[in-house]
Amino acid sequence: MTTALVVLDMLNDFIGGVLANDAARPTIDPIGRLAERARSTDDWIVVYANDAHHADDFELEVFGEHAMAGTPGAQVVAELAPRDGDIVVPKRAYSAFTATDLDMTCRVHEVDRLVVVGQHTDCCCRHTSYDAFVRGLDVTVVSDATAVFAPFDPDSVTQRQQLALDYLRTYYAADIVKADEVF
Ligand code: ZN
Repeated sequence: MTTALVVLDMLNDFIGGVLANDAARPTIDPIGRLAERARSTDDWIVVYANDAHHADDFELEVFGEHAMAGTPGAQVVAELAPRDGDIVVPKRAYSAFTATDLDMTCRVHEVDRLVVVGQHTDCCCRHTSYDAFVRGLDVTVVSDATAVFAPFDPDSVTQRQQLALDYLRTYYAADIVKADEVF
């Protein structure tokens, strides 16, 4: 069986663009290290699940235009650029499973566990974790490789991150670990 490292929305628009998030910057290094390790480990795959929005996607009502398909803002940040062999899944909603081919990708690779990193912990990470949970997949979420969206309330980033992780542990039986505990 296979573990999929799922990197969510580490895109230019989500780091320094229209949805810039200072809380996500410290996650770049640990995500990079995890991806590197995963690529060199048997029975692991690296999956990038990237917003690639079309005009009128439902989410744009909430966040405005961001990560529009084909634009530089929808590209993975240079530090984490996908490598040969990585799988890139474009998505148009919060969950990496919604109307994408991630489900089939998981079947083809006999994935039984997702290790979730990226952003936002309480949004795309949460919805992706739910969809993994209801498919019978084990979920691990990396606490120092995920981030909430700081601009919603910069004063409570730490608290919101903790609440988001607690939710994932409570409702989806997610293992919450630090990056150096994954391997
Ligand atoms: Zn989006």
